[in-house]
Amino acid sequence: MIEDKSFKSTKISDLGEFGLIDHLTKQFEISNATTIKGVGDDAAVLDFKNQQVVLTTDLLIEGVHFDLSYMPLKHLGYKAAIVNISDVCAMNATPTQITVSIAISNRFPLEALEELYSGIKFACEKYGVDLVGGDTTSSTKGMLISVTALGVLNTDEVVYRSGAKPNDLLVVTGDLGASYLGLQVLEREKQVFLVNPQSQPDLTAYDYLVERHLKPEARKDIIEMLKVLEVQPTSMIDISDGLSSEILHLCKQSNVGCKLYEDKIPLDQQVISTCEEFNINSTTVALSGGEDYELLFTIAQEDFDKIKGNPSMTIIGFMTEAKDGVNLITRANQQIELTAQGWNSFGE
Ligand code: ADP
Ligand code: MG
Repeated sequence: MIEDKSFKSTKISDLGEFGLIDHLTKQFEISNATTIKGVGDDAAVLDFKNQQVVLTTDLLIEGVHFDLSYMPLKHLGYKAAIVNISDVCAMNATPTQITVSIAISNRFPLEALEELYSGIKFACEKYGVDLVGGDTTSSTKGMLISVTALGVLNTDEVVYRSGAKPNDLLVVTGDLGASYLGLQVLEREKQVFLVNPQSQPDLTAYDYLVERHLKPEARKDIIEMLKVLEVQPTSMIDISDGLSSEILHLCKQSNVGCKLYEDKIPLDQQVISTCEEFNINSTTVALSGGEDYELLFTIAQEDFDKIKGNPSMTIIGFMTEAKDGVNLITRANQQIELTAQGWNSFGE
């Protein structure tokens, strides 16, 4: 893709490191009052007054976390920011700043980095986040991106994974499994393309799935909605590795069990039809798929009325005593113990 002839090709060495940093960051604007000094000094200066700060970081490696043969660089930049913004949201915090560090080999021209940064800028604008720093270095092979994100909250607003209580309701936002299926569709098209480079993929039947994979969103809107609804979740996590694995995290850290109802798991119509086509079980996809970046949280029973009927949230189960275990109740009303089939970065 970066070999695409439509790309002008400017060698990064022509700009030098400082010219490059300046070129990539100059069109970013500061929008948060908490940012006193962004890019351009030895360190950024931030002032959060009496608020608490959450901080999170992720490292993405070419060939492990992304494949540039079907992941456009603009989308990669966007996604690298989103996965961190999602982690900030999962603490019930408002994202405010990010830093972006990159290592790149000489196979990337300036125009490729411009694409990457246009995606990062798009995420910054959409989520109201300031780019306040980073680091730029070379790699012998491939690309690495590390994003660090900060967010703010009031002391009493923080939500940990560990606060769920028996009888709390288990809630998930949006729908699940689409990102994983989008990746399967893209992988399949890549194989077709390798055999026949003239082939033109028609992905219209899978547009939602592919978009969910290439351009995921962080649920900052849910954090804002929960404040308006005056709902303080008792525990929360974002779904990066699959529903099953995230439920097990909440249960383990909260020392509770759970009953998850298969028929309640929210699925998009395209997920259902594509699962039929690929002959895979949609529940397995939702449980193990990963990279949906939806929020999974628990609320006290008293808060049920505040969220019932909300189209962005689905109650999928409830928490139990730890001794009752972590269970899926199937459509056939069978009880099956959940295992961490969630996507494992050291696995396949
Ligand atoms: P230092 O030598 O102190 O590490 P740098 O020259 O790497 O300083 O960075 C200069 C400024 O540019 C700093 O504000 C740094 O945070 C910022 N910066 C460096 N690389 C990037 C990048 N890839 N994206 C955003 N900001 C960057
Ligand atoms: Mg540096």
